[in-house]
Amino acid sequence: MPLNACELEIDLFCRGMRVPDDVVLDGARNISRTRAGLGSGLEVAIPTSSWLKPEIYTNVPVVEAFTQRSPYLFAGSPSGYRIVDERGGEAYPVRLPQAPRWYRRQTSRGTQMSRIGVLQGTYLGIYINPICAFWNYKPALNCRFCTTGKNVGEGEVAEKSLEDVIETCWAAREESGITFVHLNGGFQGTKALKTAEPFIRAIKEEVGLLVGVQLTPHPDLSVYDRLIDLGVDHFSFCLELFDPEWFERICPGKARMIGQDRFLNAMDYCASRLPRGAVSGEMIAGLEPVESTIAAIERITSAGAFPTVCVFRPTVGSDMEDWPSPSYGDMRQIMAAVYDACRRHRIPIGLAPNIEVSLVVNPDDAALLAPRTAGFYTYEAWRRTLRVLAKPLFWKRMQPRRAARAHRTEHAAEPVALAEGLPRTHRKRQA
Ligand code: SF4
Repeated sequence: MPLNACELEIDLFCRGMRVPDDVVLDGARNISRTRAGLGSGLEVAIPTSSWLKPEIYTNVPVVEAFTQRSPYLFAGSPSGYRIVDERGGEAYPVRLPQAPRWYRRQTSRGTQMSRIGVLQGTYLGIYINPICAFWNYKPALNCRFCTTGKNVGEGEVAEKSLEDVIETCWAAREESGITFVHLNGGFQGTKALKTAEPFIRAIKEEVGLLVGVQLTPHPDLSVYDRLIDLGVDHFSFCLELFDPEWFERICPGKARMIGQDRFLNAMDYCASRLPRGAVSGEMIAGLEPVESTIAAIERITSAGAFPTVCVFRPTVGSDMEDWPSPSYGDMRQIMAAVYDACRRHRIPIGLAPNIEVSLVVNPDDAALLAPRTAGFYTYEAWRRTLRVLAKPLFWKRMQPRRAARAHRTEHAAEPVALAEGLPRTHRKRQA
């Protein structure tokens, strides 16, 4: 029985995919080991054949050990790609989102733009802080699934300058049509949000994108008032695990230095200050019991926020690289619960224009899992109406507050090689 696009997305997150050496990945995005390492897969877009949304962007695991046992095989050529399930022979057509030309260019300071920011689905992700301080403790207090401490300074620039970030945002806006930039970073005591301010101010004034901020929560909630005044459109809070014992085991730094309550308090506060659905709580599914993740989803949506749920990926180089990936049945149950909770709590998911996240199952992807009840159609009609009504508001928030400076991308230097980060066998085809 063929899977629908969301079910396929979930199964690909759980099982990964094999990519034979002789398949030419024409123009594909490089496999980028940046940020926490979750973007370490191959970006594909799966057509849905549904009126709910045309495509689902997915970052499919391809380099981790578990992917070599996957029944999914990537096949085809630049004239048409497909993912073949060798268990039943189903072939799912997919598209390879192209690597943007600006990845190969340099900023006016000579920095390769792909080392500043990365497209993850249709938005730009930028890690703005120095290496997360949890990696500096002896023994290290890093979250066990994370590889930030190994990526920042390697696959991406260790400390990003304001100019480099702005020029990269401009390039991504002008050439890739992005609407949203997501600024994240690791633990820096209480300094992290302060570090973000100049980036937020400059992006809002000079580029005019929607801006999301994902940094460890601050005990003084008034700092969020200042960031909201600067124009932040979205906050996300990475609680990761709801069960206190699992939280402490997998995220020792967060448990010792921050605590779950601070994440939830900051999330509640920002959700009370911003429009409904502008704040998210981020969870990892596949480690703690399913009921705990579903309880977290209920907690997040009851605050007026939406859940972003990552399927646990035993990323290469992380402390958990030998752990098993989660089961499809459990992940399908959790993603169905995400949509159901958003519907019951009237969270207006999928409202902002052109934001498709490839690292998670977006709550509106999970609409494809929902039973077609009267409640489903009422909610979908409400979301559709809000999307139309919200268009002028988002358009206004995406206008630069100040006339753009002349730097944009005209100083960009010659292209440079873009082979790093790809599995060795694919490098020559990409270049
Ligand atoms: S807080 Fe955890 S997930 Fe975030 S960068 Fe630090 S170690 Fe990684």
